Amino acid sequence: MTTIREGRLRGLLLAAVVPVSVAFSSSPAAEAAAAADGDAQVDSSAAGLLVFAPLAVGAALIVSLVLVRRQQRKERRHLVKMLLTDGLTGLSNRRRLDNDLDGCAEATVPIAVAMIDIDRFKQLNDRQGHVIGDLVLRRVAEGIASKVRSTDVVYRYGGEEFCVLLPGASEENARLVIERVRAHVETLDFSDIGESVTVSAGVACGPGQAAREFLDEADRALFSAKDAGRNRVFVASASD
Ligand code: GH3
Ligand code: MG
Ligand code: MG
Repeated sequence: MTTIREGRLRGLLLAAVVPVSVAFSSSPAAEAAAAADGDAQVDSSAAGLLVFAPLAVGAALIVSLVLVRRQQRKERRHLVKMLLTDGLTGLSNRRRLDNDLDGCAEATVPIAVAMIDIDRFKQLNDRQGHVIGDLVLRRVAEGIASKVRSTDVVYRYGGEEFCVLLPGASEENARLVIERVRAHVETLDFSDIGESVTVSAGVACGPGQAAREFLDEADRALFSAKDAGRNRVFVASASD
């Protein structure tokens, strides 16, 4: 015979275990009634429950822990992506470029760097306002990204300037790729805002480890391209 207290205790145990695992109780009401009756069969199933309930609760805890961890990893990945992406254009941002340039310190292959800048963008902004200016930035960014090689990475360097890393490209290869970009931007259709847009670019190339240094060289080549009248690509070796 079991006491009423024991019967209640078993009833409580049943109530705790039923939501976790239906496998351990076919009918909580029937089990509870049987427990109150002091049924011998229930004694053995209650003993089983005492063994399996902690296991079931443990399993439920592990499953929820795994789910929480998975969600945390997903959120972390999303956060990292946001940190490394430019909000306006969706391109990689300056922070990502810094990380990637750090990574180049180990590189054994040559790498080319291009700096691309929209021509007379301030005037366009003044004429059209910042909202249209932003639209132009997005379209130009898209245009640049569509014409580089699949191994190249385009970054928004800041404002209306973009940087492209072209791993393994010689200066001439890089010049050809960036010339293709320049020619494409020139043909982009901005008739809906009554504008035409061009870009100028500077290209430099060298061993991967020195990528940061020839970023400056590419920038100087870009200035030479601007000086020479804009809407053109200059290579660093020719503009020294
Ligand atoms: P240049 O041909 O010599 O490059 O002349 P520019 O007018 O393009 O260059 P400048 O550096 O004088 O002007 C850049 C302008 O870019 C100034 C600023 O209003 C605009 N700009 C920078 N960032 C943004 C942005 O996020 N959105 C918009 N709409 N404009 C921006
Ligand atoms: Mg500009
Ligand atoms: Mg600029």
